[in-house]
Amino acid sequence: MKLSVVGTGYVGLVVGTCLAESGNDVICVDNDERKLRTLRKGESPIFEPGLTDLLKKNIAEKRLTFTNDLDAAAKKTDIIFLALPTPQAEDGSADLQHVLAVAKKLGKAINGYKIIVNKSTVPVGTADKVREIIAAETKHDFDVVSNPEFLKEGAAVSDFMKPDRIVVGSSSQRALAIMQDVYAPFVRTGNPMIVMDEHSAELTKYAANSFLATKITFMNEIANLCERVGADVDLVRKGMGSDVRIGQPFLFAGVGYGGSCFPKDVSALLNTSRVHDYPFAILDAVENVNRRQKLVLVDKIKKHYGAGLKGKTLALWGLSFKPNTDDVREAPALTIINALLELGVHIKAFDPVAMDETKKKVGDSIKYAPGNYEALKGASGLIVVTEWNEFRRPDFDRVKALLKEPVIFDGRNIYNPALMREKGFVYYGIGRDGGGKK
Ligand code: NAD
Repeated sequence: MKLSVVGTGYVGLVVGTCLAESGNDVICVDNDERKLRTLRKGESPIFEPGLTDLLKKNIAEKRLTFTNDLDAAAKKTDIIFLALPTPQAEDGSADLQHVLAVAKKLGKAINGYKIIVNKSTVPVGTADKVREIIAAETKHDFDVVSNPEFLKEGAAVSDFMKPDRIVVGSSSQRALAIMQDVYAPFVRTGNPMIVMDEHSAELTKYAANSFLATKITFMNEIANLCERVGADVDLVRKGMGSDVRIGQPFLFAGVGYGGSCFPKDVSALLNTSRVHDYPFAILDAVENVNRRQKLVLVDKIKKHYGAGLKGKTLALWGLSFKPNTDDVREAPALTIINALLELGVHIKAFDPVAMDETKKKVGDSIKYAPGNYEALKGASGLIVVTEWNEFRRPDFDRVKALLKEPVIFDGRNIYNPALMREKGFVYYGIGRDGGGKK
């Protein structure tokens, strides 16, 4: 099949590459010339495990090309996937300017029956809007399909190749038959392609992300309570999660959720409910609690150092919003850094892949270390914000020798409190060990 993907970011590049890998001819369209130059060389502008190899292979086999010419790509392909940004607007809604602008251009460009497949996360009614905009520009037949993407950064290639499910919203039998064909290679193991109307498909994505954000936030509330009552959230998690109705994933307490999806999607769903006069009380609480949770480590740091905090240097491990990605959008690390800088703290940070992206956000207001141990030299404590695997089992004797004061603030509960005490550290976790009080 001949396919195009408009927008080659975290979603579009993975979608385009994986669709090429399953034998399709794919044209990836972007309006960022620098990104296109990088991609044409077979280099990935983002860090995503497994992506570069597939990218190089499919470029070499001439199934994958990159262009800024949307008009030509739309004319040459039968199915046009949209993987465009839908960032948070000032009023909290999803900003649809990129999706709607591309829809208008597609209306002018199409030269026969096309399927426009929206993979961006968009509010209910967007497929209708896209359809109206295209119809105003063309006499050709077309269908608009809502096909929200559920891949996770850090595991995006395997998520797309082996999805838990594929959600396709369309009222056109013609489009659905073609979509079934496109996705056949990805559902061979029996995971379903769930077909529904466009509105339900659009809402499914927001419901899924908001539910996951709620699950994390609920555990963070339990963790905060654990500290006050002298319980250990890690044990509570295990006790709860073994109930199949609850499940183990997404029960880990920490420094709040971040990333390019959960914060904006919770906010957009809240906006949708406001527009429809529905007070979505749980989600309001989720947003407020998460804002507070991003600062729990800062509160512990303030309490620990007291008046002596100003002027101290602290080491920080992990900048990306989660491991295995270089994405720092809405990362808790940025909130923590900004709060500590305001308190007059100096920060020496290390992340395996996200330092360049962090530099774009906070510049040289912090120092960047070439390795995790280097970040510790001269620091009065270590803050762990992202649970990269390589941070899980460091040489604690070396950590202690390098730090000026043996203090660890573990924002992801990756260390064992008893072991930390045995090694001579003052240890602060989230919702365990009395939050460092014992
Ligand atoms: P991104 O910012 O990484 O990528 C968007 C790309 O679109 C960029 O390369 C940008 O240059 C390009 N672009 C912008 N305007 C354009 C235009 N007019 N023409 C051509 N290209 C244009 O965004 P992303 O993280 O890939 O997210 C895309 C959508 O997918 C969003 O709606 C997001 O909510 C959703 N989503 C994201 C994830 C994720 O993990 N990142 C997962 C599922 C769904």
